[in-house]
Amino acid sequence: MDKLSAERRSANMRQIRSKNTTPELLLRRMLYRLGYRFRLHRKDLPGKPDLVFPSRRKAIFVHGCFWHQHPGCRYATRPATNVAFWAAKLRGNVDRDARKRESLEHMGWVVEVIWECASDPEIDDLTRRIVQRKAATSKRRSDY
Ligand SMILES: [Zn+2]
Repeated sequence: MDKLSAERRSANMRQIRSKNTTPELLLRRMLYRLGYRFRLHRKDLPGKPDLVFPSRRKAIFVHGCFWHQHPGCRYATRPATNVAFWAAKLRGNVDRDARKRESLEHMGWVVEVIWECASDPEIDDLTRRIVQRKAATSKRRSDY
C-alpha cells in the first residue's frame, strides 16, 4: 500500500515537474518579449539549468516545491508514509541542488531559482534581476 501510494505520488509530481511549467513559461515569455535570448536545458553545465543566459552568465533553475523542498512553502510537504525514505530522498535533492549551485558560482555564473509556486510579482522581480547587468553579480559576491 505504502509503496503504491509513493509511486503514485512520484508520478503525480513528475507530471507537475515536467518541463515547461507555468512559471517557467511565463518567465520565458517575459524575457523573450524584452528581447532577451536564452538557451534551454543546457546539459554541459552542472545541474543542467533550465534557462541559461550566456551573455549575462546567468543560470536559472525552475524548481518543483516538493522535490526541491521550497523553504516555508505549503507545497513542500513531507509524505506521512515511508518517512525515512522520503526524508533521505528529499535531503539528497536539496544537497545536490546546493552542490550544483556552488559549482556554477565557482565557474562565475549567477544562479537564480524560480519556484513552481511563484506568483506573477515574483516572476516580475526575477525578470528584473535577470536583465540587470551587474547588480546581481556584485551583490552575490559580497555575500561570501
Ligand atoms: Zn513553493
